[in-house]
Amino acid sequence: MTEPVNPIRNQFIEELKTSGFTSKQIIVADESRACYGYDATRQSADPMLVLLPENGPQVETALRLAAKKELKIFPRGAASGMSGGSIPSSDGIIISLTRMKRILEIDQENMIATVEPGVVTGELQEEVSRLGLFYPPDPASLAFSTIGGNVAENAGGPRAVKYGVTADYVMGLEAVLINGETIKCGNKCIKSVSGYDLTSLLVGSEGTLAVITKILLKLLPAPEAVKTSLLAFPSMTAAAHAINNMFKNQIEPSTIEFLDHHSINAVRDGLPFTLPKEADTVLLVEIDGTTPSVLLQSQKLKELFKDDALLLIEAQNESERAQLWTARRRLSPAIANLAPHKINEDIAVPRAAIPDVIARLEKLSEKIALPIVCFGHAGDGNIHVNVMLDKDDPDQARRGHQAIDEIFTITLELGGTLSGEHGIGNTKSAYFDKEWSPTTIAAMKSIKQAFDPDNRLNPGKIFPTQEDLQCQ
Ligand SMILES: Cc1cc2nc3c(=O)[nH]c(=O)nc-3n(C[C@H](O)[C@H](O)[C@H](O)COP(=O)(O)OP(=O)(O)OC[C@H]3O[C@@H](n4cnc5c(N)ncnc54)[C@H](O)[C@@H]3O)c2cc1C
Repeated sequence: MTEPVNPIRNQFIEELKTSGFTSKQIIVADESRACYGYDATRQSADPMLVLLPENGPQVETALRLAAKKELKIFPRGAASGMSGGSIPSSDGIIISLTRMKRILEIDQENMIATVEPGVVTGELQEEVSRLGLFYPPDPASLAFSTIGGNVAENAGGPRAVKYGVTADYVMGLEAVLINGETIKCGNKCIKSVSGYDLTSLLVGSEGTLAVITKILLKLLPAPEAVKTSLLAFPSMTAAAHAINNMFKNQIEPSTIEFLDHHSINAVRDGLPFTLPKEADTVLLVEIDGTTPSVLLQSQKLKELFKDDALLLIEAQNESERAQLWTARRRLSPAIANLAPHKINEDIAVPRAAIPDVIARLEKLSEKIALPIVCFGHAGDGNIHVNVMLDKDDPDQARRGHQAIDEIFTITLELGGTLSGEHGIGNTKSAYFDKEWSPTTIAAMKSIKQAFDPDNRLNPGKIFPTQEDLQCQ
């Protein structure tokens, strides 16, 4: 098929080639471009062009040449994003960072890794663990998502309760501004307070402020031991009290995952252990650290909950540990059997508000007559809320839509936030002004304006668009 003539694109391609881009780094063909227009939200779009830069100077060149033609730029990592963050427009250029995947340095003395943005998170973790070091952020997508995407979304995972999220490990960055110039922020110093903290500003900026080209990451010594336990409770309130008691008694788990009763029912059959019928909430608790501290804390855990828990199993080896994780790992495929579709939100609330959120979501589920399945990270209040429905049924689709609005209202009323992990992107931008006042949004927009005055870098993300506002 002949490509339609696009003089601006053709001229841009010529300029890129003159500046050192090879043909293999410039993707023009329709069918190949389509491979760069989707993400995990299942949205898809057809960008005008895809570029595969191999180093920071090439990103600078691409953005400098694009600036002359006022072209839009959409940064992209592994496209595992769950909020549409890397979805391009048809007149936009995807800058895919996946070829910039070198671990540039592992500084063992200072315990800092310097990496390019396309490094896959799990690969960095493996590399540093060979040296007895540890990079804790653990999004469930770590086998394929990139550090650049993790930084742009401030990704987190089950270990956030003890170790924090990506932001807690980013010590410095290099990033290319929309005009093609590079800024450097942060350094290897633990104390560093010279000027505005641009590193923190860029973490979680969802590709809207700059294209990140280099990242300095703090590493920790690898934990010596880990103990995994599964506890079942008769109610969410009892489970929440148990979590509070753990912290009060100086048990500091690295992970506290929870399953509500819908989740339990979805996975109950076929588990390698028997869950009591009365189990309403299951907690999966991991404690890591030095061997003596893990043993001490695990002992305390058993003593504390020997009467209150309906079930308490402590894994004695790796295979038993894997068995305890089965319930959590089987969840996503298991709930897929409940309905043809799901609407999945990743709200977060202060930890103590979890029982209230769950109780209010139960009532909402009754009101809209659709199951709402909740599970997630009880230790840090990040709940994956899944409204199960058949989107092809117009009435269910309408009720599902109503549910999202009410889920966010409940969350915000309890002091929570629209997103604990996945970011706002274009899927939650319509709800952004539910969380933030016009003045706060105006302050955020003035930052966007300072970095990207013509709104050419990842436009349509985070801030409500005119279309969003008209729909409200
Ligand atoms: C099965 C599955 C499980 C998941 N589990 C988790 C989880 O546990 N925790 C969690 O937090 N998330 C999770 N996610 C969401 C997703 O993996 C994360 O948001 C991840 O950080 C995205 O990384 P990515 O490389 O895929 O980025 P992409 O999806 O390609 O991009 C995400 C955003 O980052 C921007 N971006 C990417 N690279 C750069 C760069 N170099 N410079 C500037 N901006 C950039 C993009 O423009 C976009 O806005 C999950 C997703 C899936 C599919």
